[in-house]
Amino acid sequence: MAYCYHIELNRCKGCGLCVMVCPKKVLELSDQVNNMGYFPAYQARPEDCILCAICCTMCPDVAISITEKADAEPCPDR
Ligand code: SF4
Ligand code: SF4
Repeated sequence: MAYCYHIELNRCKGCGLCVMVCPKKVLELSDQVNNMGYFPAYQARPEDCILCAICCTMCPDVAISITEKADAEPCPDR
């Protein structure tokens, strides 16, 4: 089983909580604004992500998800 990590960019208000709590320092805030005018979080170093889901739990806007997928399947386009 593999996993898809997704941040819904246009739900993110750029509060930075996920950036602060990530134990592996994977996340940063983008320098590009989203549809709401905020600088959203993104995985700057996805190869370091251990899928601990602390960021998902912390996000007050439920903008981050980790979902299971079959090994052979790609992550869905969003
Ligand atoms: S799942 Fe864990 S390691 Fe990956 S970005 Fe979120 S907090 Fe960081
Ligand atoms: S915690 Fe949620 S709203 Fe805040 S920066 Fe991270 S993804 Fe965006």
